[in-house]
Amino acid sequence: MNPLLQRVSVDGGRPIPDAATGETIGYAPEHVVNDLEALITRARIAQPAWAALPASERGALLHAAAERVALVADELADAVSREQGKPLNGIGARVEVGAVQGWLHVNADLEVAPEVLVDDAENYSELIYKPVGLVGAVGPWNWPLMITIWQIAPALKMGNAVIVKPSEYTPLSVLALVSILNEVLPEGVLQVISGGRAVGAALTSHPAFGKIMFTGSTATGKAIAAASAQNLTRLTLELGGNDAGIVLPGTDIDAHLDALFWGAFINTGQTCAALKRLYVHESQYEQVLDALARKAAATPMGRGVDESNELGPLQNAMQFDIVARLVDDARARGRRIVTGGSPAPHLGRTFFEATIVGDAVDGDPIVDEEQFGPVLPVIRYDTVESAIASANRLDAALGASVWGDDPAQTREVALRLEAGTVWINKHGGIHPMVPFGGIKGSGYGMEFGFEGLKSVAVPVVITSR
Ligand code: NAD
Repeated sequence: MNPLLQRVSVDGGRPIPDAATGETIGYAPEHVVNDLEALITRARIAQPAWAALPASERGALLHAAAERVALVADELADAVSREQGKPLNGIGARVEVGAVQGWLHVNADLEVAPEVLVDDAENYSELIYKPVGLVGAVGPWNWPLMITIWQIAPALKMGNAVIVKPSEYTPLSVLALVSILNEVLPEGVLQVISGGRAVGAALTSHPAFGKIMFTGSTATGKAIAAASAQNLTRLTLELGGNDAGIVLPGTDIDAHLDALFWGAFINTGQTCAALKRLYVHESQYEQVLDALARKAAATPMGRGVDESNELGPLQNAMQFDIVARLVDDARARGRRIVTGGSPAPHLGRTFFEATIVGDAVDGDPIVDEEQFGPVLPVIRYDTVESAIASANRLDAALGASVWGDDPAQTREVALRLEAGTVWINKHGGIHPMVPFGGIKGSGYGMEFGFEGLKSVAVPVVITSR
């Protein structure tokens, strides 16, 4: 057994399956709502001393925590690969563990300086960012380590205590990460409550939390926003996406094929800001379908811990059912299944073939709903104007992309796409200094960089003269 999984497993805990095989990989503690109070008490005791440390000392501890992660990077990648399903290889589990270290190091060195707003004869006004106190971090199952670190690295750096509620589907890798970080952090500053939706609901409606960082579905985000009204809790809501990409006429398809494919199929499609509907001009439609289908069929799928694989299973049966339903619906509507289109039970219980759906149209469930799996519907367009309208017609607005070889034209289209991030000739790339977040139904608030630090702080003004 993986030593990290062994370390966080508890006797009598809930069995957690290997996403690919279904074999039990460990036993997660099942905390209940009542356990929350003891964690809050511990956090409240620990937070003032943590906030009182100079920011540079908190930074030094975050650097030290990143170094601890580096020491067990292989075991952590193995744990997340087994629990979540993503391959070790490619943009997979090793990249996820690398991002954990990167986000810790970058946040360790970031500091939000007071901003002088007015400095004249009558007024000297400064904007200062103070810790909110206690931050709740609730996360999903698709990138459990990376999303947890997005939430906790800035929150800790700003002097907050944090209680993390991992997804009930992937608690073990998050428990392992927190136990590694706690080898260097002061007691009580970072804690985990491992439980289901009821625990998440209790945490996000508890008045002790000054800020909730939530990443997950739009439906849950709306429930958290409703709960926040009682306590006026600050929120960052990173919600579901249904990112559109537009390939402009005359684009060199071969040059962009790899980036197009992985923009959609990263983490076997289980990525919030993945390409989930691709609009291609009619002049290149068949060429793009054919190229993507060949790439999809040639990309090895299987267990994540097998080094030869680049695509893995759906993490859970619920998500597998969503993907299978959407593909069956597309088939029933007469859409073209260019490649894939079926479960792959010979690989394991939740594997679904990498699938390209041709002749899809706006209004098809496979286009309008977030598939969150290894499926890409490709939609034909005639004018760029109509493609922009299609891209912008949904409520989801996390990311979008435009593909083409004329920089002026791609930028002009990018400016008209409604999404928190618009990429040009790539999709889904992130950077710890570049703010990231959704608009419209994909939520509000930004993570990463200075914006991310400010989002886990309260702004206050001091005025004199
Ligand atoms: P989910 O909303 O079902 O669950 C997310 C977390 O919320 C889990 O920890 C769950 O236990 C908890 N939860 C459930 N009900 C709750 C409630 N009423 N109150 C408080 N917490 C509650 O989401 P999921 O299925 O785990 O994740 C997939 C979704 O997350 C997709 O829609 C994906 O696009 C989105 N996502 C968004 C981003 C982003 O950065 N915008 C990143 C990753 C995933």
